[in-house]
Amino acid sequence: ASHSAADLTAADVTRHKWWGWGMDDVRFRFDNKPAFAPLAKNKIGVDLEQVTQFDDPELSDHEVPAGRLGDAEREAIVGLVGEANVRTDDEYRVLHSFGRSLPDLFHVRSGDFERLVDAVVYPGTEEEVAGLLRLAIEKDLVLIPYGGGSCISGSVTPDPAEQRPVLTVNLGRMRQVLSIDDTAGLARVQAGVYGPDLEEQLAAEGWTMGHFPDSFTYSTLGGWAATRSSGMQSDKYGDIEDIVRGMRVVHPEGTVVTNPIPGRDSGPSVHEMILGSEGRMGIITELTVQVHRLPQVRQVIAYMYPDWEHGIRGMHAIARSTDVSPTFTRLSDGPETEFSLAMVKEPTSTKGKVAAKVQDGLFAYLRSKGWDTSEEMSISYVCFEGTKETVEHQKSVVKKLVKGAGGITLGAGPGAIYDQKKFDTPYLRDFLLSYQVFGDVCDTGATWSNINEVHAKVYEAFYEAQRKQGLPGFMFCHMSHSYHSGACLYFTFALKYTSPDKALEQYYNAKRAVQQAFVDLGSTVSHHHAVGTEHQPWLTEDIGELGEHIIEGLFAQNDPGRNLNPGKVV
Ligand code: FAD
Repeated sequence: ASHSAADLTAADVTRHKWWGWGMDDVRFRFDNKPAFAPLAKNKIGVDLEQVTQFDDPELSDHEVPAGRLGDAEREAIVGLVGEANVRTDDEYRVLHSFGRSLPDLFHVRSGDFERLVDAVVYPGTEEEVAGLLRLAIEKDLVLIPYGGGSCISGSVTPDPAEQRPVLTVNLGRMRQVLSIDDTAGLARVQAGVYGPDLEEQLAAEGWTMGHFPDSFTYSTLGGWAATRSSGMQSDKYGDIEDIVRGMRVVHPEGTVVTNPIPGRDSGPSVHEMILGSEGRMGIITELTVQVHRLPQVRQVIAYMYPDWEHGIRGMHAIARSTDVSPTFTRLSDGPETEFSLAMVKEPTSTKGKVAAKVQDGLFAYLRSKGWDTSEEMSISYVCFEGTKETVEHQKSVVKKLVKGAGGITLGAGPGAIYDQKKFDTPYLRDFLLSYQVFGDVCDTGATWSNINEVHAKVYEAFYEAQRKQGLPGFMFCHMSHSYHSGACLYFTFALKYTSPDKALEQYYNAKRAVQQAFVDLGSTVSHHHAVGTEHQPWLTEDIGELGEHIIEGLFAQNDPGRNLNPGKVV
C-alpha cells in the first residue's frame, strides 16, 4: 500500500526493537533443530542445553543520559515538522544511536550509552529536509540521516566526542513510489521506503527492483544508496549503483539533482560521489531506480560439490558461460554447509521425514564415492528467472557445468527452503548474544585468480588470532555476488567471550585479523558493508593515501561546517 507522508507520523514508521534485530516477536529456536546444539558445543564450546539464556534486556535497567537539545532549537524543529515528528524519548534516542553491528548490539544491551543522539526528527517532504539542514547549519547542529538503522559499520552512531546537539533524520515517512515510467522501466521513489514496502508497491504494478540484501526487511532504499549496498540477486539486477539511475539530494547549498539517464559522460560522476557517501554529501530524498517486469518463473536449484575448490570451479564456469545468466549464484564452503545442515528443523510431516531419509541415503552414497560429507562437502544455490523455456534451458546448461566441475544437482526442494529462510538468520545473533557468544560477518571481494588463496588465508588469520587468545572459534564462508572477474567472499565467525569486560577486546582481536588479511591480500575492506567507523582503520591500505585525500577534499568542500554525519568513511 502506498502512503503519503502527510498521513503518517513518526509513530507509524517501522522500527527495530531497541536492543536487537527486527521489531516483532520472531526468535531463533534451537530446540527444533537437532544438530544445532551439538555444533555449538563442538565448535565454540558453548553447551546450549546447560547454560541458561539471559533474559531480554530492559531499557529501564539502564541510565539514559539527558539529551542536549536546547528548548529554542527544539521549538524551531517542531516548527518545521510538527510536534508528532520530533522524538526525544529514551527508546527512540537509544535505538537511533546504534546500527546493528555486533559491537552495536553489545553496547546497546549493556546500556553503554556514552553519547546518544539528542533527538530523532521525521521530515515528511524534501522541503522539510532542506529546512532542517538550513537550521543545522545556522545553529551548528549535527544531522545523521537514517533509513532502517541496519548498517553494521557504525555509520549512524554519533562521535562520542561530539559536543554539538546531534539529530537523527529518520526518512521513514517518505516511503512512496511516486511514479513509474512504463517505457523506460524507471521508478521515482522516496528514499525512506523499506524493502518489503517498496517491493509491494512495485509488485502491485507488475514490477520488481530485484534488490534483496539479507537486511531487506529492515533497511531502506536511501540507506542502500548511501552505503553502496548489494543484494543477493546482484548477478542479474546489479549492485545498487547499477540500479540507481538518478537522485535528488538535499545539500548544504541547495538540492543536487542527477537526471535519470542510462549512462553519462559528464566528467567525474557526481552521482557516484554520492553513492556510498554515508550521509556526508547530503540527505538523499528521492531516487530513480531501474525496475523490471516480474518474471513468469523463478526457481532456486541446489547443487553439491565434494569441496570448496570444486565448487569454485563450477561457479567460475557459470560466470564465464555465454549461455546462462542466473539471478544469483552462491556457494557455501564445507563449514558453512555443515552450519546450514545444523539449521535444518527436525522433520515433523511425512513428506519431511521421507525427504530426510532420501538425504541420508544420498550422503551415504556420496561417502561411498569418497566425499567427506561432514566437513568438506559444499552446497551451492543458483536462481533462475524467465519464461518456463528459458529457465529449463538454463537449468540444463548449469547442470552440465556443475557436473563438469565434479558436482551433482540436488534439485528444487533444498533450493526452495533456502529461499524461504534467507531473512531469518539475523535473529540468530541476538540469540547467541544471550549466551555470551558473538556471531559476526566480514565480507570482501576477490578475483577468480586469487579467490581460493583469499579464502584459505582469511581462515588462517582467524584461527591464528583465536589460537593466540586461547579461545575456540568457528568460521565459515560463502561466495556470492558473482562478476566477470570474481566474486564476493562473505565470512561468518563465532566465538564465546570469557567475560563482559573482555568481550569486545576478544571480538576485535578476531575481527582485526580478518580485516587485516583482506587488505594484505589486495582485497577490499568490504564488498557491501560500507566503511562507517568500523572499517576506517584499513581504508588507507585499501584505497591509498591519495585516494583518502580525494575523499577528504570532497567532504570538506561540500560540508565545511561538518554538520552532516561527521567522522564517517574518512
Ligand atoms: P542506515 O543503517 O539507516 O544508514 C546507513 C548509512 O547511510 C548511514 O551513514 C546513514 O547516515 C546513511 N543514510 C541512510 N539513509 C540516507 C539518506 N536517505 N540519505 C543520505 N544518507 C543516508 N548490506 C548489503 O548491502 N547487503 C546485504 O546483504 C546486507 N545484509 C545485512 C544483514 C544484516 C543482518 C545486517 C544487520 C546488515 C546487513 N547489511 C547488508 C548492511 C546494511 O543493511 C546496509 O548497509 C543497508 O544498506 C543499510 O540501509 P539502512 O536503510 O538500514 O541504512
